Amino acid sequence: ANGHAPTRRECPVTVAVRIRPPLGSDPLSRSAQASAVTQVEDRNQVAVHHLDGDAPRAFTFDHVFGPTATQDEVYDMCARQLLEPVAQGFNATVLAYGQTGTGKTFTMGTCPTGGLEHENLGIAPRLIEALLDMLPDVNQRLVRVSYIELYQEQVRDLLSQAHDGPEVVIREDRHGNITMQGVSQVVCQTKEDILGLLERGSQERTVGETNMNSTSSRSHAIFSIMLEQYVLAKDSTVECKMSKLHLVDLAGSERQKRTGADGVRFKESIKINSGLLALGNVINALASRTESAHVRYRDSKLTRLLQDSLGGNSRTIMIACVSPVASNAQESLNTLVYANRAK
Ligand code: ADP
Ligand code: MG
Repeated sequence: ANGHAPTRRECPVTVAVRIRPPLGSDPLSRSAQASAVTQVEDRNQVAVHHLDGDAPRAFTFDHVFGPTATQDEVYDMCARQLLEPVAQGFNATVLAYGQTGTGKTFTMGTCPTGGLEHENLGIAPRLIEALLDMLPDVNQRLVRVSYIELYQEQVRDLLSQAHDGPEVVIREDRHGNITMQGVSQVVCQTKEDILGLLERGSQERTVGETNMNSTSSRSHAIFSIMLEQYVLAKDSTVECKMSKLHLVDLAGSERQKRTGADGVRFKESIKINSGLLALGNVINALASRTESAHVRYRDSKLTRLLQDSLGGNSRTIMIACVSPVASNAQESLNTLVYANRAK
């Protein structure tokens, strides 16, 4: 990202921050509450205010989107540049990180689109549309899609009706490619096919969602496009170019207060989502770019699954989403600190 010595290789992770606009459902009046996280003078800097007795803290990222940024602007700056590499055979991952209610799902576009204005579509449907427009003819490609939810290291297949599906196994082949067995991989011909699966899985995910502590706020959703393109080489043989695009709507980053059998919360036993912890460490190791930095992909299913699509030749974009509300200032600071480790 920013300000590193030229001797180091280019940072493999692009980090953006998006401050969501105030919503009617936010506590207290808008004017009093809407200023806890601000963009610094139209620059790529954010500042967090209203920290209990502490001075404001400022951070610099690759991009900062203020509350009036549109979905199209976010797509344009944070996702569109992945089309070319993915079409050329590189893997890519977009991650939405942040506290529940800050706009991760809205930004990623992994929500049902019923009732959404076209301009409010998120990254996923926009990338699908544009990618399919770039690809060769149907008989020169194979597009497969999977859509899963990861909850407490358990995989749930959002494209399968079966409640007792096969056990999911994550494998690595001798070329370092990660595959998932026991998860539906649906072959798609058209962009409409893919958009239909995105919609179906997103609806499946929201079933039963009621509050901040719902499963969906504590689970990661991973929408993946697996692409094979057949290219005729000069010697008349057919080469297969493979790539993957993962769109990841991460679990809420707020500390989970554990509830006991009698429903009482233990104040002390605050559990950090193991996937987010492992992801933070992996991305930090990738960003530190020292030969010695050991990248611990095996610490969680999330990082294991994304292993061949983070770092190396892969493109990774993290969008950290924050609330503008003063009562969330500490969580917003936590999010910015996490995102800052990825640069
Ligand atoms: P998260 O996935 O982080 O829990 P959501 O994406 O569900 O958060 O967003 C919470 C609410 O805020 C939703 O009703 C969503 O439509 C709304 N929202 C989030 N970001 C924006 C935005 N930039 N503009 C308008 N509404 C937004
Ligand atoms: Mg969400």
